[in-house]
Formats: sequence, structure tokens, C-alpha cells
Amino acid sequence: MKKITRWFPDTCSCVIDFEWDTDNPNAPHTGKEVVKACLAHQGFDATAHYNKVLSENQTKNLVIKHVIENAPELVDVDEKGNKTLKNGKMAYFFDENRKLNVIATGLTALNKDAIVALIGSEKIIING
Ligand SMILES: [Zn+2]
Repeated sequence: MKKITRWFPDTCSCVIDFEWDTDNPNAPHTGKEVVKACLAHQGFDATAHYNKVLSENQTKNLVIKHVIENAPELVDVDEKGNKTLKNGKMAYFFDENRKLNVIATGLTALNKDAIVALIGSEKIIING
């Protein structure tokens, strides 16, 4: 069954309705309506808009995943073994060129280089 879900990404202030199939939830989702477009995402149709915001969001998620898996100094582990970023150790924003800027306190040079290699130096810069 097709279902529409409203998405409030944590990488910008866009609000997007996307469509997905409850019988095939892992299939690619489709942008259906741009409810709100932030200043950085103007002039795209719903599909292109959704894909652009999704790509940025996934890039950010990939960085967090890498840090959680590879940088124990930035990670808290609860009694169930769940790992989360330590408070205040990492912040991020997308600059005017939509390049992901990460400020990671205590991240080793090795991990910084690995993340930049993973994402691509044209899409990310890491400070801190
Ligand atoms: Zn946006």
C-alpha cells in the first residue's frame, strides 16, 4: 500500500511529504510535495527536492555512523550496548555551498582522513 509520510529533516528546515510502499519499505521513496523549502533548497520539483535533501541527510548520517563505529573517544555506550555520540563532541552544518562542515572534538587525524576519503573532500570539511 502506498503511504505518504511528512519528513522534517535535521539537516535543514525543509518539510517534505514523501511516498513509500508499505509492502516494500526498502524501495526508494519518492518526493510528493514540498511543504516548506528552506533558503538553500529552492526551485526543485518535489522528486528532485526530496532527493537533494535526502542525499545531504544521508551524508550526515554516514559521518555519524563512521564516528560511532570508529571513534570510541566520542561515543557513549549504554548498559544494553547501544552507542550514541557523546554530548557536545560533534556538531555539523552545511555551508553556503552545501558542503558538510563537521566540528568534532577529539577526533583523531586518522579518523578525519578516513571520513573525508569516505565522503569525498568536495563534500565535507572536518574541523576541531
Ligand atoms: Zn532544505
